[in-house]
Amino acid sequence: MTKQDLQSHQYGARHNHDHCIDTALATAETLCVQQGQRLTKVRRRALELIWESHRPLGAYQLLAKLAEEGFNSAPPTVYRALDFLLGAGLIHKVESMNAYLGCSHADKAHKGYFLICDECHNVMEFDYQDIHAALIAKAAQQGFELRAETIELTGLCAKCKANSAGANP
Ligand SMILES: [Zn+2]
Ligand SMILES: [Zn+2]
Ligand SMILES: [Zn+2]
Repeated sequence: MTKQDLQSHQYGARHNHDHCIDTALATAETLCVQQGQRLTKVRRRALELIWESHRPLGAYQLLAKLAEEGFNSAPPTVYRALDFLLGAGLIHKVESMNAYLGCSHADKAHKGYFLICDECHNVMEFDYQDIHAALIAKAAQQGFELRAETIELTGLCAKCKANSAGANP
């Protein structure tokens, strides 16, 4: 991946995405050891590919990338790797995009709250578990048992907002 690709994949303010990837992989290694699981080659590579950007990756895109690299990319292998990563809390499924996103705080139990940019399709995970407690309480007032595991909010990210402001002064 070229430097330019990396930059175009950044969300929000400029940041060092290599750092995101390194942190995610280090967390994955630690969690797998703690859980007595093995981060096999295909699981690790799938996680790396999902972490290539902050734009969620679909199962078929992942399958194609793994195939290019000579992995066994039969759909069951790829889905098993995705199931493992989901089960270990290392990735989230963004339902509205039918795609997978690397989790940036996999070592903490949490629900998935996502800010999805309509423009660049980058997704930012944010961590406001108090919102979840408030939603459960409000829903309960209506006699409703909330079961949602993810909350997906769409809008415009900081970078796209800045770009559109620059284009229309
Ligand atoms: Zn990043
Ligand atoms: Zn997460
Ligand atoms: Zn954006």
